[in-house]
Amino acid sequence: MLILKGIGASPGIVIGKAFVLKDEEILIQRREIVPEKLEREIHRFREAVEKTHRDLDAVEAKVLRTLGKQHARLIEAHRLILQDPLLVKDVPKRIQKEHVNAEFALSEILDSINEAFEKIEDEFFRERRHDLFDVGKRLLAHLLRRQRQKIASLKEPCVLAAHNLLPSDTLNLREEKVLGFATDLGGKTSHSSILAQSLDIPAVVGLSDISRRVANGDTLILDGQEGLVILEPDPQTIERYTKAKQQMVAELRSLEEMRGLPAITTDGRRVTLFSNLDTLEELKTVKLQKAEGIGLFRTEFLYLNRETPPPEEEQYQVYQAVAEKMFPSPVIIRSVDIGGDRITPLGITGHEQESNPALGLRGIRLVLRYPQLLRTQLKAILRASERKNLKLLIPMVTTLEEIQAVKKILEEVRQELRNLKIAFDENAELGMMVEIPSAAMALDLFCAEVDFFSIGSNDLMQYLLATDRTNESVAHLYDPFHPGVLRLIDQVCRVAHLYGKWVALCGEMAADARMAGYLVAMGLDQLSVAPRMLLKVKQSIRSLDAAEFEKKLQDILQRTGPNGPQVHGFPHP
Ligand code: PEP
Ligand code: MG
Repeated sequence: MLILKGIGASPGIVIGKAFVLKDEEILIQRREIVPEKLEREIHRFREAVEKTHRDLDAVEAKVLRTLGKQHARLIEAHRLILQDPLLVKDVPKRIQKEHVNAEFALSEILDSINEAFEKIEDEFFRERRHDLFDVGKRLLAHLLRRQRQKIASLKEPCVLAAHNLLPSDTLNLREEKVLGFATDLGGKTSHSSILAQSLDIPAVVGLSDISRRVANGDTLILDGQEGLVILEPDPQTIERYTKAKQQMVAELRSLEEMRGLPAITTDGRRVTLFSNLDTLEELKTVKLQKAEGIGLFRTEFLYLNRETPPPEEEQYQVYQAVAEKMFPSPVIIRSVDIGGDRITPLGITGHEQESNPALGLRGIRLVLRYPQLLRTQLKAILRASERKNLKLLIPMVTTLEEIQAVKKILEEVRQELRNLKIAFDENAELGMMVEIPSAAMALDLFCAEVDFFSIGSNDLMQYLLATDRTNESVAHLYDPFHPGVLRLIDQVCRVAHLYGKWVALCGEMAADARMAGYLVAMGLDQLSVAPRMLLKVKQSIRSLDAAEFEKKLQDILQRTGPNGPQVHGFPHP
């Protein structure tokens, strides 16, 4: 038995057999390529060939340095393979002829070459196929980089162990028989972790080397609350966890009495408690938990794993259905925040090769670069706003100009709808996410432009603490109790209220039981949390005294100088 400690990303206990996802075991899916995109697909393949040539140059230089000229010649064989018409001519031909994606065309051709090699009697020549696969693997790695395809269909329910899972991979897990997952990389607020919570899949991330430590078929216990993975547990441990699992179910049931009750503190402070929504399937839970509204409808799921952006009508149907099901409760729809780790194969140039994606073309920056994306989404949202329960939210805002550009497009879309005599809510509120420190510090400047603010604490902390939210190595620095984080959130609340704006918080911090009292004390008007956390957070709010936390908060915020908090190692409640 071996106990591995990682980061609890999505609560729940699962006991099952491991399935290890090796990168090379990714199932290559056949995708139909529309005729107008065939050239681009061929270009993508040629780019992969170019990159592989560059890889080989680098390998050759290294071999020259370490092993000498004689061995470096071996690389020449790989270079010849890479120039072989069987690859460079036949793959594009196949893409063109069969209208398929480059990975699929390549893997089909590699399979047929392999079959031919297998028939060769001479062992030396037969084994040359490994050189071919080496080259093939390099090509595939370039093609699949950041757009890995659907995880291999599993035969039976299992616990997935992988090096890393991107949000686009995680979104697919629902269709697979995945009980839970454990990854080497990742942090608590990585988008994959958030999605795991939404999909109700227990997960532990940031385990460093779990994907190398486990083998297919090993028994695993995964505890998503404590962030533990137990390899080959003994019977007593299995029994203990089986009981703990039953107890968790019982605890969840005991929270059910919170349904329908207001989120109000013992001294009468009322907070609006909304639910986040990451996928349509979650709407059932949102309704079941009787959320007062949706505080953050993340629309990225509509854009991931597809080559063309969702058309207006498709989006309209989704927004309309959510607006209808939640009516009369409000729904805050966020314009799409792709980019960063939420990579899509939409063919958006510049967004796949960034060296610092979290600081790059993401959220509003990306859709303002490709305004048609924003225009289509805004139109679909406005069309669905007829019953007046929708609000708009803009992510990753840095400058006033960005908000003004959004408002200009919004007004053009409104005018278009008026001309078409399509009914919509003329007064739908517009809000901005506060998740970039400079915007948070200059909040007063934005007050004239928007109706409300929603603090995205996941990103705000990432940028404020210079700590990648997806990087387990620096997870210990990703601390909501850092005085800088508390001070800034407090300042945002005060400035927003000074200008008569309401302010929400919709990051994972809102679901952190230790934070509830402080957030209420700061005067946040609304908290929005994952649906499965809703009743738990409500229970915390209903059992706390706001005045008591106000005192504690002031104590923390006003302590300065040498006798105040050390920057790290700050006393946690
Ligand atoms: C946030 O950054 O806190 C947030 C809610 O947005 P996302 O997690 O989708 O980046
Ligand atoms: Mg964010």
